[in-house]
Amino acid sequence: MPELPEVETIRRQLGPKILNRTVISAGSHESAKFLPARKTKGKRFLTLRRRGKYLLAELDDQSELVVHLGMTGQLKIVETEDQRSFGSNYERAWWVLDNNNTIIFKDVRRFGRIALVKKGDYSQIPTLRDMGPEPFSPDLTSEDLWRRTKGRKQRIKTQLLGQRVIAGVGNIYADEALFYAGINPSVRSITRAQAERLLQSLQMVFSQAIEKGGTTLRDYRNLDGAGSNQDYLHCYGRSGLPCHKCGSVLRSRIIDARSTTWCPVCQKR
Ligand SMILES: [Zn+2]
Repeated sequence: MPELPEVETIRRQLGPKILNRTVISAGSHESAKFLPARKTKGKRFLTLRRRGKYLLAELDDQSELVVHLGMTGQLKIVETEDQRSFGSNYERAWWVLDNNNTIIFKDVRRFGRIALVKKGDYSQIPTLRDMGPEPFSPDLTSEDLWRRTKGRKQRIKTQLLGQRVIAGVGNIYADEALFYAGINPSVRSITRAQAERLLQSLQMVFSQAIEKGGTTLRDYRNLDGAGSNQDYLHCYGRSGLPCHKCGSVLRSRIIDARSTTWCPVCQKR
């Protein structure tokens, strides 16, 4: 599933191509999850932001297009061709722009979602409404992060995946950041010192992944193709292989329904 670095990569690539462009026509798959794309016809894109794993495009009528890529969603820009019909090959939504470009949202498994809301009104999208701070927010301190984890009963890995403690973390970067921070994924509370290492680790793994164009394991593609961060993972997907820090064999097990990998020595409970 695309996480913060993948969505941020797409935002950076897509933004310059769509800003100030007007949607000449728009279409979608019949599913209610994609239908709102059609309501953007005639509107102009003013900004393209990211919040957690969501893309937020402000339009010129005080509305905002919200796109979540789900498990397998991809966005791409193609040159608009005459007579081209959309909707085949897992194309779930498309926006024909006034610069001879068409944005296509392809989503094989259809876990993605599109919404059109009044600007800033996320009341109908609880995950977005209740989302924790952005990991790169200049206002965010490790003390804030520690307070947000405090008193929660879930395991730290599950807290990270929940989006309320901090935004944008999914399975890959949760495993990576906990590994770097030396925190066992199963613990239910962390110390202030651990929160400090966790925040630094999250920022580090996210920065590196953005620099590499994201992690492509299966479906994720940015606008230029596959990312390369999969070649730089130190924990995720490495169960049974030696730890890059201490040489012990990495372990994995299911934690709250998510496959989790960790080092039994570097990430002691
Ligand atoms: Zn180790």
